[in-house]
Amino acid sequence: MHVLEGHEKILSFLALTAQNDRPAHAYLFSGREGVGKKLVALRFACFLNCPSPTDADYSCSTCTRMVEGKHPDIRITLPEKNMIRIDKVREIQSVLRYAPVECRYRVVIIDDAHLMNRSAQNALLKTLEEPPNYSILILISSRPSLMLPTVRSRCRKVRFGSLSTESVVRILRDNGIAPGEAGVLARLASGSAGRALKMESSQYMKLREKVIAVLSHSDSVGLRGALEFSATISSDRATAIQAIEIASTWIRDLLLEQIGTHSSEMIHVDFLDKISDTAHRQDSDRLISLYDQLVRAAELIEAEINVNPNLVTDTMMLKTLRILEGPHFGVVPANG
Ligand SMILES: [Zn+2]
Repeated sequence: MHVLEGHEKILSFLALTAQNDRPAHAYLFSGREGVGKKLVALRFACFLNCPSPTDADYSCSTCTRMVEGKHPDIRITLPEKNMIRIDKVREIQSVLRYAPVECRYRVVIIDDAHLMNRSAQNALLKTLEEPPNYSILILISSRPSLMLPTVRSRCRKVRFGSLSTESVVRILRDNGIAPGEAGVLARLASGSAGRALKMESSQYMKLREKVIAVLSHSDSVGLRGALEFSATISSDRATAIQAIEIASTWIRDLLLEQIGTHSSEMIHVDFLDKISDTAHRQDSDRLISLYDQLVRAAELIEAEINVNPNLVTDTMMLKTLRILEGPHFGVVPANG
C-alpha cells in the first residue's frame, strides 16, 4: 500500500506546522489499522525535511529515500514477536543523541506503539520529557488506550478516521485488484485499506462465496451439509469469525433489499440478483432472528478463550437452517 488517500485535514494541519517550523516533539497518531497512519507520518517527514518544499508531490531524492526507509535521518521501529522491548527504545535514544546527518529533523516513527512493554514505555518517557530540539517522535497506534497515560499525555494527539469507500477502492485498484472485486472488498473492510488488502490476499473471498451459497440455497443443504460446513469454518477462530461476519452482512443486505434500500448501501453488490431472489423468499422476522443469533455466536467465539469454536458453529448452523427452512429441518421421518 503506497498511495496516500484521504486525511486531507490532518495533512494540511501537519503541512502548516512544518511550514511555520513549529512541530511538536512528539505525536500520537491513533486510529483503526490500515487507514494510512504510517504513510501520513512519512509524508510529515517529507513536509519537515524536503529540501525543495515547493515540489508538490514530494518526489525528490530526499523524500523518496525517506519514504522508502533509506534515509539516515528517518528511523522506523517495528515490534518484534508482537512486542517492542526496552533495547529498541535504547537504540532510538542512542540515535537521537546525534544531530541529523542531512536534514533539519531526525524523525523516529514507532509503529504499533501500544506493543511497547512497560519498561520500554518508561524508558521512552525520558526522551519525551527532554527531547533534543531536532527530534520528532511519531507514535502510531490502533489501541492507544493500552499505553501508559504518562506517555500519551506528552504527545500531541492526531486522530485518524476511516477512509471513504472510494478511497479504499482507489488504493485496491492501485494494487492491481479488479474493479468489481475492489468495490466489494472496500465495502466489507469498512474504511480500512489495510484490512481490504489482507482480505484479498487471504481466503476471504472464497469463504464468502461458500457462505453465500449455503445461505441462499439453504433448502438443499441438509443436516450433513450443515455440519460439514460448520467443520470447515471452525478450523480456526479467525475463520469462524470471518464466516459469521460475512453471513451477518449478507443478512443485512437481504433486509435492506426487503425495505427497498438502494443497492449503493449494500455490501455484496456483485450478488444483487441473488440478494433480490433470496430476500423475496424469506420473511423479515426470520432474517432478524437469524441476524441476532449470528451476532451472539460471534460474541461467544470472540469472548470465551476456552470455548470450542466448532460447537458454537454447529449450533449456529443448525439454528440458521431451522430459522430459514422451518422447524422440520433436521427431523428424520419416522418410517425412513
Ligand atoms: Zn522532497
